[in-house]
Amino acid sequence: MSNNPLIKAYRKPALYITLPSGGQYYDPKPTLSVDGELAIYPMTARDELITKTPDALFNGEATNTLIRSCAPDIQDPDQIPVNDLLTILLSIRQASYGDKVEVDINCPQCKHINQMAFDANTILAKSKSVEDVDRVVTLSGDFKVTLKPYSLKDRTILQIQQVKQAKMVQALTDSADLSEEEQTERFGKTFVEIANLTVELIANCIEEVNHDTDLEEPVFDHDTIKEWLANITTNDYDLIKETVEKLSDSGINQMFKISCQECGHGWDAQVDLDMSNFFAG
Ligand SMILES: [Zn+2]
Repeated sequence: MSNNPLIKAYRKPALYITLPSGGQYYDPKPTLSVDGELAIYPMTARDELITKTPDALFNGEATNTLIRSCAPDIQDPDQIPVNDLLTILLSIRQASYGDKVEVDINCPQCKHINQMAFDANTILAKSKSVEDVDRVVTLSGDFKVTLKPYSLKDRTILQIQQVKQAKMVQALTDSADLSEEEQTERFGKTFVEIANLTVELIANCIEEVNHDTDLEEPVFDHDTIKEWLANITTNDYDLIKETVEKLSDSGINQMFKISCQECGHGWDAQVDLDMSNFFAG
């Protein structure tokens, strides 16, 4: 945070939270309290404006700026393991607006807009610790791979790519003047690009590969691991990917039982407690 004495005196932490990762996987490590907790500051007027800029959401820049301001003890937000992200964002919201998380939910039957309120403490209580998942997987042939969750940067890259891909597919579908061969070729290129990116992102989540007898020492080098990853079987690849996804899951349930205030219809709704609608109110 700033060294300006006026700002230092004015902005105080509103709450302290336990990170699901316990501060693991960050480099440099976040500065935690003596109890191992992270300080969360309320949003400033400027932060609130940032959270209301829908365009910025796509590049992750808004999330990054918000975390820099409200969780300044995390030196590099790009490094946040994504399983910590929802806990951090919910806590920032809680520090700024109180325990109630208000979300508008449309009834699928009568279209009534239900204004729902959830308790942030109840939601956060369900986040799980990464220690619940074994991060070392053993592949065929006894290769041992040590994994970590996706970082916020990885997630942003993936989101940008998905938006680009969707736009490209749309543009191809719309362009009547392209021959069928040209369309097939461009579709193919797009999918090869996304496949390469997926391998790249999974490679980012591999800390080391080891083999007791066939390797002299564990391999840490990113490029070596990436090249190897493109040469392993689907079974081994899927096992790695599944484990990375489990490690990246916050454990926070975003399905809520809703009962319509107008017509009484009951259903399970997926409520995205993410930047997208979560700060919109
Ligand atoms: Zn209804």
